[in-house]
Amino acid sequence: MATIRVDVKDAMGRTTTKLLDEKQTRAVLCQKCGSEVFLTGMKLKRVSKILVGSPNDLFVNLPVVYCAKCQFVIQDDRPRNESNNGDKLKVLK
Ligand SMILES: [Zn+2]
Repeated sequence: MATIRVDVKDAMGRTTTKLLDEKQTRAVLCQKCGSEVFLTGMKLKRVSKILVGSPNDLFVNLPVVYCAKCQFVIQDDRPRNESNNGDKLKVLK
């Protein structure tokens, strides 16, 4: 089994790296088709120059994770700084 590096952020915002055996983890499955392979993409958002006081409109990219098989997006428009992104995932027990 492979060793997995996990960066864990504590309440103070400090990051520590932990090494886990793959056996200590559980597979995350697509809630639509059951695949366990995902890809990352991005959504582009346009922010009005009036809203931010900039000379031009701004483009902001939001990372999303989607199923490699059926392309179902499992992570959506939530703000980047929101740490809990697991509530829409189906976990294999
Ligand atoms: Zn899927």
